[in-house]
Amino acid sequence: MGIMNDIQAIGKILQKAGNIKLYEQLLAIQEKTLETMEENKNLKEEIEKLKEKLRIKDSVIFKHDACWIKDKNGKVKDGPFCSKCYESSEKLIHLIGCLNPSYSMCPQCNITLANKIWKALETRTFYKRR
Ligand SMILES: [Zn+2]
Repeated sequence: MGIMNDIQAIGKILQKAGNIKLYEQLLAIQEKTLETMEENKNLKEEIEKLKEKLRIKDSVIFKHDACWIKDKNGKVKDGPFCSKCYESSEKLIHLIGCLNPSYSMCPQCNITLANKIWKALETRTFYKRR
């Protein structure tokens, strides 16, 4: 917080000199500076969130009626995720097994999908249930 230290140092000098008008102006500058610093921090956090969203968006693919996350080489590294939840709210919800082992479901929106559609994927181990 270098600028805040500078403002405080100038404030002490103005107080010693008895220049109340300039000291009050400096307090207003200090307040504006704090507001700007807070706004800057919030904007940086928002940028990081958007970068993360963009990174995820670039790695999500739609295949066999579900969403999957691919690695930089294009291989599936995680999934399947519910395409309905991802496309409507950008939430990556893992599909889970149903009582009927031929189907999986989304625990968020309860949509069900037949498992046979995923068997075409080479990386079958990624969607084995734990
Ligand atoms: Zn869903």
